[in-house]
Amino acid sequence: MAREGTSFSKGAGDGRSRVSEHIGVIGAGIVGLAVARELSAARGARVTVLDKEDRVAAHQTGHNSGVVHAGIYYPPGSLKARLCRDGVALLKEYCAEHSLPYTEAGKLVIASTAAERAALRGIAGRARDNGVPGIAELDALGLREVEPHAVGVAAVHSPHTAIADFPAVARRLAADVTGLGGEVRLAHPVTRLRETASKVEVLAGGRRFAFDRLVTCAGLGTDALARMAGSEGEVRIVPFRGEYLGLVGTARDLVRGLIYPVPDPRYPFLGVHLTRRIDGEVLVGPNAVMALALEGYTWGRIRAGDLRRILTFPGTLRLAARHWRTGVREVYGSLVKKAFLDAARRYVPALTGADLARTAGGVRAQAVRRDGSLLDDFAIDTHGRVVLVRNAPSPAATSSLAIARHIAQVVSRS
Ligand SMILES: Cc1cc2nc3c(=O)[nH]c(=O)nc-3n(C[C@H](O)[C@H](O)[C@H](O)COP(=O)(O)OP(=O)(O)OC[C@H]3O[C@@H](n4cnc5c(N)ncnc54)[C@H](O)[C@@H]3O)c2cc1C
Repeated sequence: MAREGTSFSKGAGDGRSRVSEHIGVIGAGIVGLAVARELSAARGARVTVLDKEDRVAAHQTGHNSGVVHAGIYYPPGSLKARLCRDGVALLKEYCAEHSLPYTEAGKLVIASTAAERAALRGIAGRARDNGVPGIAELDALGLREVEPHAVGVAAVHSPHTAIADFPAVARRLAADVTGLGGEVRLAHPVTRLRETASKVEVLAGGRRFAFDRLVTCAGLGTDALARMAGSEGEVRIVPFRGEYLGLVGTARDLVRGLIYPVPDPRYPFLGVHLTRRIDGEVLVGPNAVMALALEGYTWGRIRAGDLRRILTFPGTLRLAARHWRTGVREVYGSLVKKAFLDAARRYVPALTGADLARTAGGVRAQAVRRDGSLLDDFAIDTHGRVVLVRNAPSPAATSSLAIARHIAQVVSRS
């Protein structure tokens, strides 16, 4: 059987010929590709990326809102808070260097009630603690200067929140990896991992690879790879589908940038918002409903094996028991367009039903603990020679280049 393994190549740092490591990265989403590039460029490793799909960015990276989050909400000191801020700076520079689209469209977090106005003060304070630049607190008139068609009692404005084309970034990262002597092997589903004394053997697409180290960045496939690595851990990925509507025709002119509600801290990714995308489309959404398959992009996509694993994990049932009311509301929003319209009209009252059309959504890979709570922060673990990314939800696309640096340090330390 053909084996790939340690090879002789030139180290990046010292310019001397040396035996370089061969590192495998599973997942050609934005996180895996950023990790592969970082390990090639900064560490001089020979890197092979394996993905089961026939294109890069096939899952979360290619199905998201395209927002470069500024780092407003995350608990100070968390990995999310730190890597989001670092990631924004790195991503902005990377997009400029490679002529990739990046626009600081600006974001308004709008309070519609007096109670939300109080929460808004906390949000502004946290944003400043996290080092988000340019944060301004606006009254009802001030917010209309930023978004003339929006209403609310007050808002926080983050003028540097941006929009970008994450699939284009992923494609560019893949080109960097190959340019640095690595390879991106698509249509290579990983079906087996085995650690030997000095290698990690990987079976992918019928071929066997032998790596010195392995990093898994598999999004919705995280648990399957953790099982293969013999390290299931305490959390499981629960797939939450986010569905969107898109504004049609001149209704797009009603929104300049990004309009968000005051988030409910219990459900950080809920709350219908309006998001201008880099291609000019304006998204309304998403909601969040539990998908019936890991890659359950529609209600019709059901996979018994995925469902069994999701539903037999105690965390899923506890999550459902605790939050069933919200769940029912979200499912209603999924089935009834008017629920979306009502949520959006709270911020932009001029919208009508005729302005909205269904558009593609995405499925979030969200790690859930056994007690039913969501694992909010990014989570990265090491098991022998394998580094496992266990939780990389939003803002992982924003943070990808900083996550990659962080993982390169984890690889060096372990
Ligand atoms: C609806 C939605 C909106 C979002 N909005 C934003 C946003 O505005 N801003 C932001 O920063 N983030 C956002 N996110 C989050 C962001 O998209 C993700 O955090 C990010 O894309 C994660 O990247 P990834 O590379 O880890 O995962 P993915 O892009 O999902 O890539 C994982 C890859 O692993 C591959 N894989 C899995 N299993 C295997 C296997 N066994 N063998 C080989 N390959 C395998 C898959 O094919 C896939 O290509 C959003 C996510 C969703 C779903």
